Amino acid sequence: MSILLKAERVGKRFGGFVALQEVDLELRTGERLGLIGPNGSGKSTFVNCISGDFAQHDGQVTLAGQPLNGLKPNERARRGLARTFQLPQPFNSLSVLENVRIPLLFSGAAAEATPRAMECLDQVELGPKALKLPRELTQVEQRRLELARAIALRPQLLIADEAMAGLSNAEVDEIVALLLRLNGQGVTIIMIEHIMRAVTAFAERLIVFVAGRKIADGVPREVLALREVEDAYLGKQ
Ligand code: ADP
Ligand code: MG
Repeated sequence: MSILLKAERVGKRFGGFVALQEVDLELRTGERLGLIGPNGSGKSTFVNCISGDFAQHDGQVTLAGQPLNGLKPNERARRGLARTFQLPQPFNSLSVLENVRIPLLFSGAAAEATPRAMECLDQVELGPKALKLPRELTQVEQRRLELARAIALRPQLLIADEAMAGLSNAEVDEIVALLLRLNGQGVTIIMIEHIMRAVTAFAERLIVFVAGRKIADGVPREVLALREVEDAYLGKQ
């Protein structure tokens, strides 16, 4: 299988504080990767480096062999990279449908914006709520809207940053099923999650961050059995 995402020695400092240090990662096309680690271990910082939300960072990132360094988030989105945010950030004065149309309008896909947006809403089962405002949605529906916006441009790689925080078990299962469906359609996915039942149900490979470093990378069952992972992460829960 081809390598879709390659991160080499990716790092990020905030002033004197090292939030992320020399992270290497190779992700194959079609993989389902789980990324776990305690709060503050650098998971979202890593996503921000990959997605272009941080303009400056150390190291190199390539997507399908193309360098991403220096590209803005919207340029990376056009090349097939999508991410969701830990806190959903919809445009609150716009309808659910308009929220999904926006990435399409800004990416030269204006002609197909409405049908494609509806298709995405149907995929996350929000079709009937297309004309509602985001605040009229339940929490899990807002999470699904965030995913609909992310898949609008038909990403090759989707990074879901804690897309399930605050949801019930049944709602978590719903989002996991949705991500599995997207993966089945060929989308490579990185799931960042604290909810272990979601991670173990979803991920075929797991990496663990502790204090800005990748400390483990492998088959979930084996990674979760590592003493250092238990000490650093599971033991604290
Ligand atoms: P995680 O997503 O694993 O919970 P983050 O990547 O959000 O962790 O944060 C890693 C560390 O970097 C934390 O100590 C956090 O306070 C710090 N950090 C993250 N973003 C910024 C920022 N924009 N400015 C300063 N410090 C930051
Ligand atoms: Mg985070």
